[in-house]
Amino acid sequence: MKKMDRCQNLTSFLDWAQHKLLQAEVASPRLDAEVLMAESLNISRTELMTYPDRVLSRIEAENFCSRIERRVLREPVSHITGVQEFWSLEFSVNEKVLTPRPETEILVEQCLKALARKSSPVRILDLGTGSGILAIVLAKEIPQSQIMAIDKSTLEVARKNALRHAVADQVCFVSADLMQADWQGPYHLIVSNPPYIESENLFKCMPEVRQYEPVQALDGGRDGLDYYRFIVPSAWEKLEDDGLLALEIGHTQAAAVVALMESGSGYQDIQVVQDYSGYDRVVLARKRILNG
Ligand code: GLN
Repeated sequence: MKKMDRCQNLTSFLDWAQHKLLQAEVASPRLDAEVLMAESLNISRTELMTYPDRVLSRIEAENFCSRIERRVLREPVSHITGVQEFWSLEFSVNEKVLTPRPETEILVEQCLKALARKSSPVRILDLGTGSGILAIVLAKEIPQSQIMAIDKSTLEVARKNALRHAVADQVCFVSADLMQADWQGPYHLIVSNPPYIESENLFKCMPEVRQYEPVQALDGGRDGLDYYRFIVPSAWEKLEDDGLLALEIGHTQAAAVVALMESGSGYQDIQVVQDYSGYDRVVLARKRILNG
């Protein structure tokens, strides 16, 4: 990609980048250009707005253009900058973990609401922790919690994030396949954002997801429900009586996941919660106390 050689100011670089990203069918070209510019100059986006006429040095211009080239190829902004905001905190990410999505904040909100009145130590299990966001945010928000977080990835990014947010002593990371690991327990809360995309629909995901995100964090099997079929009955075994199971779901999966929870009659107070776009996003249930 060739950027004009003459001395250019910040606004003209942004306009040029916006145009390139628009041509590449990037969903939010101006925003992405601004985020990548701020990162190239090591300043905030607000500062960017304050100096529209600032002239870029050659190095700054090269940094910016190389970032835009990567974005044109639809590499996610989070992979280019190495960070993603979630719950107003900054998390490290890379191509080995799913970049946190804003709708997953609904899952956090629901867990916090359900645990609000609990004062004694809270034991939590996070299945498929990825970048660690669920375990880390819950650890920060519930200082009296102890969390086990399982993921089959190396957990390098998650451990780094836990240190960064000063909760490493509250979270025990276990690198294992959640379908084979010893979950230990019992827990007051089991939470998970498992892979839930139908295998045959993976190719329909946006290029950012399809080409750059780890398929093992997305592929939920033929009907997308493989992990729910495993987690729902297994979690019942590992929950305290009245303990909460909280799962993120794909927006078409609520009925199927609710049916799994109802099938063994091991759960009660089953609830589906929508995200801010109005899509079903979270299913919650409490462990029913059998013969209790
Ligand atoms: N919400 C993610 C997406 O649409 C999928 C996350 C998942 O499978 N857990 O890309």
